[in-house]
Amino acid sequence: MRAPSYQPLARRLIKAIVLWGALATFIWTAAMGVWARRESEHRLQSALLRYTESVAMNVAEALWQVSPDLVQGHLDTALGIPGVGYIAVRDKGGNRPFAAAGIASLADGTEPLRFPIRLGAAPPAHQRQVDVRTVGAVLGNLEVFPDPSALRREAASQVLRALVPGLVLTGVLLLIALGLVHRRVHQPLSGLSDFLGRLRTDAHGEPPVWTPPRGRVPDELDRVADSLAGLQQRVADHVQQLDARVAERTGELQQALEQLRHLSSTDPLTGCRNRMAFNEAMAAAIAQAARYDRPLTVVMCDVDLFKSINDSWGHLVGDRVLAAVGATLRQALRAGPDWVARYGGEEFVLVLPETPLMSAIEATERVRHALAEEVRVPLESGEALGATASFGVAQWHHGESVERLLERADAQLYAAKRAGRNCVMPPLEVLA
Ligand code: GH3
Ligand code: MG
Ligand code: MG
Repeated sequence: MRAPSYQPLARRLIKAIVLWGALATFIWTAAMGVWARRESEHRLQSALLRYTESVAMNVAEALWQVSPDLVQGHLDTALGIPGVGYIAVRDKGGNRPFAAAGIASLADGTEPLRFPIRLGAAPPAHQRQVDVRTVGAVLGNLEVFPDPSALRREAASQVLRALVPGLVLTGVLLLIALGLVHRRVHQPLSGLSDFLGRLRTDAHGEPPVWTPPRGRVPDELDRVADSLAGLQQRVADHVQQLDARVAERTGELQQALEQLRHLSSTDPLTGCRNRMAFNEAMAAAIAQAARYDRPLTVVMCDVDLFKSINDSWGHLVGDRVLAAVGATLRQALRAGPDWVARYGGEEFVLVLPETPLMSAIEATERVRHALAEEVRVPLESGEALGATASFGVAQWHHGESVERLLERADAQLYAAKRAGRNCVMPPLEVLA
């Protein structure tokens, strides 16, 4: 399974703070822009009202004096009022402008600020003949078209004035937030993550120690680290107990298995190998002798007149004699390579690997003596019952089967019986 790609929590927090900070700044800027534009429009209009009233009066006076140049001069001067884009004087009918200054295209489709131009209350001296009833009459309108780009410029400068401190403050706050997140979140979390990586569930070696960054007041991270360190200790103790229990159980199982193996391959009455174990071990002994071209000798052994022991003393005594014969055979043989199996009834097979024929005959003689001397089964009368056995010896010939080898040993055993029992009958090649 692929390990998931972890993203540091601090980085995600910083990203979120920057994003939200940028969004808040954007909303703040937009609100400031709207507000600044309204404010500048308002200020521009009140300035226009203030200035244009006097311009209208000046224009009225110039008209009074029928001085187009003076009218034009006043209009040109009025262009200097901030926010004025186009200014024109029109008669009451709204016909073509009598005089105008500024950018004429601003008049297209825009509603102007209109100021009526009235005849003044006191006409100039050279116009004394004017009918006083006309004083105050509207001659036409002074039309003022604001310049949108000037409005925009004004709004932009307002926004900038408000925005720059806001941006600086936001930037400073962001930097402080980033520093705090790095120090208070990222560093302790990285340390905690390293600490967790070093936690182990086995009990070997020193458990890792959680060292929080210096100068930090302990918080939830330290509680997590303490809890996990405690958990590690408990898990390690538990694992140790489990290991010990598993080792104990494994030992017991191995012992039981060993016992089972021994029981399944051992004849319970005589303690010798049983027929099944004989088959396996005999095949292995032949394979070994064949592979390394080593001598191998087998001896068939049969207890003499065993039927009469049974008949005279009962089967229980017969069994005791068999057990004593088995024990004596095992003790009398070389410990290690030689072994003995109960072949059936009161018949045994002695297997002598690495043993040439003559040595095998000598060893069998020793065994025969041991049986005759040592088998002593106590009887109820207080006497001890002895037993003897006859032996037929055969050495394995290269390529010979187990059956054939046993047949030859068996033949020699019967020869021993015929020869009077309690003796060892060597193979024919020795006798010849
Ligand atoms: P020989 O010297 O010719 O071998 O005489 P023998 O009496 O031993 O001959 P035989 O083979 O005829 O007798 C073997 C007897 O062993 C027959 C059988 O009842 C007895 N026998 C076989 N297995 C057991 C056993 O496990 N316990 C007891 N008590 N007797 C057994
Ligand atoms: Mg027999
Ligand atoms: Mg017998």
